[in-house]
Amino acid sequence: MKCPHCTVAVHSAWSSTALGLGGKHSGWVGHVMACPNCKKHIVLLENLATNERRVVYPQGSNRGPVPPDVPKEIAADYNEAALVIAHSAKASAALSRRCLQTIFREAGYLQKDLAKQIDAVLAETDTTKALPCVYRKPNLVHNGDEVRPGSSANLLNLSLS
Ligand SMILES: [Zn+2]
Repeated sequence: MKCPHCTVAVHSAWSSTALGLGGKHSGWVGHVMACPNCKKHIVLLENLATNERRVVYPQGSNRGPVPPDVPKEIAADYNEAALVIAHSAKASAALSRRCLQTIFREAGYLQKDLAKQIDAVLAETDTTKALPCVYRKPNLVHNGDEVRPGSSANLLNLSLS
């Protein structure tokens, strides 16, 4: 598994506890381990009836930290988009779109909506100005402003790739 803090692949070494009240099992098990690389704790809950496992700490995704050279405004939107994606794909997509719009605006694409910015970037003939992320993953940018299943994750993946 990948550590959700540092994104390094680590061997799982969970310490597990059945959760219950008054000697009655709730059907849930709590698992905790410390990452051998970054030493931070990872906590997850498992529902034995459904076999669903959900990381409850750290919250968010296992995307790892934003590189330090990313501007704070963009990093804040990206981190918030990653944090809410499990709860609201639409909210994550909105934040991801804002993140992308900021990246494009800072690169000189001043169109008012994301679809027009993407069209301008894709039509760019000056390769020194073009954003490398768009050219690496051109199929992901055709989501426009529509929210479709998977589009928020695609936008999130695209925004800082
Ligand atoms: Zn770690």
